[in-house]
This record gives sequence, structure tokens and C-alpha cells, in this order.
Amino acid sequence: MTSVTLFAGERSIGGTQIVVESEGARLLFDIGLPFNPGSGPFAGVQRRTGRELADLLQVGEAPNIPGIYRASHIEGVTSPPLIPPTEGPTAVALSHSHLDHSHVVGFVDESVPVHASPATSRILPVLSDTGSSLGRLSRPIEAVEPGGSFEVGPMRTTLLPVDHDVAGASGMIIETPDGTIAYSGDIRLHGLHPERSLAFARAAREAGARLLILEGTRLFPPEPGAPAPSPERFEAAVAPRVTQILQPTSGLGVIMMTPENGERVENVARAAEAAARLFVLTADALAYTMAALGRLPDAPFAVYRPANEMETAAPTIRRALEAAPRTITAAEIASSPGSYLLRLPLERFADLLDLNPQGGVIITSNGPPLGPFDPAYATMSWWAEHMDMRIEDASSTGHAHAHDLATIAHHSGAPTVMSIHSRHPEMLNIAPERLLLPERGRRYDLSSL
Ligand SMILES: [Zn+2]
Ligand SMILES: [Zn+2]
Repeated sequence: MTSVTLFAGERSIGGTQIVVESEGARLLFDIGLPFNPGSGPFAGVQRRTGRELADLLQVGEAPNIPGIYRASHIEGVTSPPLIPPTEGPTAVALSHSHLDHSHVVGFVDESVPVHASPATSRILPVLSDTGSSLGRLSRPIEAVEPGGSFEVGPMRTTLLPVDHDVAGASGMIIETPDGTIAYSGDIRLHGLHPERSLAFARAAREAGARLLILEGTRLFPPEPGAPAPSPERFEAAVAPRVTQILQPTSGLGVIMMTPENGERVENVARAAEAAARLFVLTADALAYTMAALGRLPDAPFAVYRPANEMETAAPTIRRALEAAPRTITAAEIASSPGSYLLRLPLERFADLLDLNPQGGVIITSNGPPLGPFDPAYATMSWWAEHMDMRIEDASSTGHAHAHDLATIAHHSGAPTVMSIHSRHPEMLNIAPERLLLPERGRRYDLSSL
């Protein structure tokens, strides 16, 4: 028998943990924590060094699945394991590097192989080096080329590229003795590569998938009294929008975006050039972009190094600094702020005090804070107001619109669609008899779906 069990993430954005079991072998996919800025047990509560994972297991924020984690990280955990241990082989697969899919990968025992796309395998060490992910990643990640496969027991899993707002995003086709399962990871059709997402759905159909596990971030009811949501901005419209915002602006441009979206970084650097500005990013951001692209960005850029910055020891960041063609100091930016577009994360906004940004603009483009629901948005707005900068938007979400989700479900041909990674998974617009809203911890027999 082959079973599918969801242990976390049935009604949250991310934190998905699903185990497929067949003949004693186990495949766990995605190993992140739910995306919940400003809420949850550790909002404003310090994580205890060495107890990060154990505390998450104790409070039920991460599922206690036996045989996954290194023993030293779960010492003293008294919450019972959710399933019995297995004699068979266990493997982990990651759809992409976003923390809601990868946060606790650093705690996985070395005896358990972790598989991911090449870009994801390069980005994960940067997340660890910058302290962005919990737990130090000191183990190798098995890079699986696009269309490549790996096996665990009788299951063969193929990673196929899908379009999302990060490099290396993959869907999975999991062939088991009792049928095939397709998992979308995070996916969209309005990016630069919709053909990848559609090819994944078609591959699911060709493999005769019995079950599609599909994300549903953008499924939510309209707010009463709110205007109809504006149409989705396509990824292709982001760079022209950045140029359009910068052209009439005389002061500093600051952009909030995730540097592991390597394609957008290149396109935004070109958009800055079109507005007669040089794109500038921090050394750690360059480390992410180089990991995403597997090379230096193919567009004009410089690395921002405030004069007083300490030498950094983390290997991925040191390599990025060594590869940077040019560095720019805070004083250089302050002397001609209208000549630059700077990718600056919110945690470094105090640097604005040295950058003479008055009359400039902050461009939001999918970097945190993602919206007013995040308490950090008020902090960004405070800096904008006090630095006399306006806020403009040039974002394009990484997640498919509701009607595109239905299109993906249709193309997959799967008779059953498990709707997850959503606060309103029931809103997936497919025939009710196809829709499966999983119960946490319930083992679904694949052959009966
Ligand atoms: Zn996600
Ligand atoms: Zn994602």
C-alpha cells in the first residue's frame, strides 16, 4: 500500500509537510515553517540556542516525524512522534528555497538524503550563512537536474521546473507502485515561464497522476465592501514599471525585493540602467543572486559597502564580495543619490540616515514586508515618511491567480486534487468531487483516491 499523510500546512501559507509511504520507504516533502509575520509562538520571543527545533516540536509548530532529525537537536522532546519509526529508507525533497518550504532543513540528519534543484541547493547555504534559516546547514544537498529523478524504496521522484518568484522552483512527479502523485510546490502562470508550469501539469497527466497536491495562496474571499482586486501584474511588466517610477524621481531609489529571484534582479538592474541609474545591492544579496543564477548578474551593478562594514567570514558572502566588479560606499551614494537604485532590506534601513535619500522613492517588489498585514510594513512607512520618500509598487506575486490554479488542475488530469498552502483551500474552483481538503495526520490510501 502507498499512503499520503499531511502533518502540517493544511490551512496556512507554507509549512507544508507531507509524507508519502510505500513498502516501508518514506519521502517527506518540504520542511519549512508557516509564513506568519508578527504572530505565532516565537513572534517577539527569542529562540533558544541549540533548542530551536526541540522547542518548535514541543509547541507543535513543527511535526515530530521520527527518523528525520539529528538526535542532538531533539534531545528532551517529550511530544510523541506522529508516526512509528520505519526500518525502510527515508528521503527529503524540497520544492524550492523559500523559508516556508526549507526553514528547518539544517536539522535533518546526515543519514537522510535531501534532494532539490541545483539553484535551490546553492541558495540554501546562503540562507544558512546569513542566519536567515534556523539551524546551521552543514550537510550536502543532492542537486537534481531539471527533469532528473531520485529513488527512495520503490518510489521514483522527478523534479520538474515550475515558474515561481524564486530561482530553482520545482514541482514533483512521484511514481509509486500504487499510482503517481504530482506536487506543484509554489507555482504561477503569469511569470516569465508559464510554459514550465504548464509542462509540469501535462507531465502529471502523461504519468496518469491519481493525485495533484496544489498550492492555493491566492484563494481568498473578497473583503466585504472592498473594491474588486486589480488585475495581476505580469512579471514581464515589473521592470518597465520600475523604469517608469524612477524616471521622474530625482532622489534615491530603494527597492524591496528578494535577491534569490535572480531573473528579476537582472531585469531590475537593466530597468535602472534605462532610467540612467546604477543598480546597487549588498554583498549578501549578491551571494543570493549568484546562487540563484549560478553566475554573476548579466547587467550593470555594484555592491554597496558602507565604509565601516566589518569583514565578513561567511564563505558564500566572501566569495560574492571577491567577485563584485565594483563597490560603492554610503558617501558615494549620498553625494549623488539620484544616480542609484539600491536594493536595501528593511533591517538595514538605518543606513538611510547616511544616504541622503530625501525626495526619493521606496519601490515594493515582493521583498518583505509584503503588505500592511505584516507589522514591519508600519516600520517601512515610518522611514518613508521621515526620510521624505514616497512608496510605489512594482510587484508581481509568485502565486497563481485562482483561475490559473483551476487551469493547472485541469491540465493535470488528476481525478483528485488536494488543496493546501492556503488559508481558504476550499475555494479552489474545481468539481467538488475532485477536491480533497486533507485532515492533518490522516493516512490517505493512494489506490482508493
Ligand atoms: Zn510557499
Ligand atoms: Zn515560495
